[in-house]
Amino acid sequence: MRYNAGMHPALQATLAAVDPEIAELIASEERRQRDKIRLIASENYVSGAVLAATGSILTNKYSEGYPGKRYYEGQQYIDQIEQICIDRAKGLFGAEHANVQPYSGSPANLAVYFAFLKPGDTVMGLGLPAGGHLTHGWPVSITGSYFRAVQYGVRKDTHRIDLDEVRELAHKEKPKLLFAGGTAIPRTIDFAAFGEIAREVGAVFVADIAHIAGLVAAGAHPSPVPYADVVSTTTHKTLRGPRGGMLMCKATHQKAIDRAVFPGLQGGPHNHTTAGIAIALKEAATAEFKTYAHQIVANSRALAAALVEKGWGVITGGSDNHLILADMTPKNVTGKIAAKALDVAGMELNYNSIPFDPRKPFDPSGVRLGTASVTSRGMREPEMKQIASWMDQVASAPADVGLQEKIAGEIRELCAKFPAPGILI
Ligand SMILES: *Cc1c(COP(=O)(O)O)cnc(C)c1O
Repeated sequence: MRYNAGMHPALQATLAAVDPEIAELIASEERRQRDKIRLIASENYVSGAVLAATGSILTNKYSEGYPGKRYYEGQQYIDQIEQICIDRAKGLFGAEHANVQPYSGSPANLAVYFAFLKPGDTVMGLGLPAGGHLTHGWPVSITGSYFRAVQYGVRKDTHRIDLDEVRELAHKEKPKLLFAGGTAIPRTIDFAAFGEIAREVGAVFVADIAHIAGLVAAGAHPSPVPYADVVSTTTHKTLRGPRGGMLMCKATHQKAIDRAVFPGLQGGPHNHTTAGIAIALKEAATAEFKTYAHQIVANSRALAAALVEKGWGVITGGSDNHLILADMTPKNVTGKIAAKALDVAGMELNYNSIPFDPRKPFDPSGVRLGTASVTSRGMREPEMKQIASWMDQVASAPADVGLQEKIAGEIRELCAKFPAPGILI
C-alpha cells in the first residue's frame, strides 16, 4: 500500500479504522486528482510539506490575538509560526505589513470593508459578469447589499477593462473603496493606473490578487504592492498554499486592517493553515517556483493559441496569465454541455459567463480554464497542444461517450508520466 505524502501511514490507518466511509471518499478524491487534467483556474496541487502542516496538531490550538499579544496562554510556538509567516509574506511581496489570519479570500475582503467603510458607503469593483468577484460589490453578496456598490465593466469591442470608464465612473461616484482584480480576467491588470484613479478621488485602493498571487510573487505579473493601499489575496490558487487568505498593506493601514480581522470579523486564527501558508511562502521564494510561475504563463499562452487555431472563441484572443476564458458559441455548444462532456473525458474545468453573455449565469456561453495545476505537474507546451486537441475533439462531439472514455484513458496515461505534488499513490 502507498501513502499520501502529507499523511503519516499511522494516521492514514487511524482514519480508515475510525471512519472508513470518509477515508474511502478521500482516497477516491485523491485518485481523481491524480488521474485528471485539472484545469479549474482557481485550483492547484499543494506540496506534501503543506499537506503535512495542514493535517497537523496545530489545529488543536486557540490563539486569538497577534504574536506577542494573545488572549490565551501556551503560544510559545504558535507565535513563532505566525511571525515567520508574516515575515515571509512581507519579504516575498515587498509589503510593509501582512496579516495572515483571514480564513479565506472572501473574509479577507470583508475585513477590508470593515476597516474602511460604514454600511451604505460606496464601493467600486469589476462586475461579476465582466470577470469580477462576488465580494467586490455584487448584489447577492453582503458587500453589494450592505454597501452602495458601483460596478465597472469591460469594453464591448475588446473585452478588456476600460480605464477611461473606470476613471469617469470613479470621479462621478466617489467610492471610498476601489477594487481591482477578479476571477475571469485573462490579461495583465494595470495596477499603477488603478492606483492613480484611486488617488484622484480619495479612495482606498484594494488590489485583489487572489488568482495571480503566485505570478506576482515570481515576477510573472506586475506587482500591485507599490500602488495599492491594501493587497488582498487567497493563498491556495497560483500561490499553491493551503486554503486561506492574507491582507498586505502600507504601514499606515496596519492598525485598521489588524483590528478589522481580529476582533472585528474573526475569532481564533487557523494555526495549521498559518503553518501551511508559511511553508508555501518559503517554497514560493525558490528559483523552482519562479520557473513554475513563468511556465504557467507560457502554458496558458500555448493552450490559448492552440484553442484559437481550432476555432474556439477565446476572449481577448489569448492570455497573459494563467487563465483562459472561451466563448463556446463558435463550436455550437453551450459552456455547460462542453464542461460536463470534458469532465467525463478527464478534463475538469468550469462553465462561465463571458462578457455581455446573452445566456443565463447557470447556463452560460463560456468555459473558464487555467494552467496552474497542470504546470505544477510539470506539463509544458507540447502537453498543452495535446490537451487542446482532446478538448476540441470532446467539445465538437459532446454526446460521444465512446470518444470521452477513450480520451479519459489516454489522459490517465499522460497523468501517470507527470506525478502531482503531494500525491504519491
Ligand atoms: C477566489 C477569489 C476570492 C475568494 O476567495 P475564497 O477563498 O473562495 O473566499 C476573492 N477574490 C478573488 C478575486 C478571487 O478570485
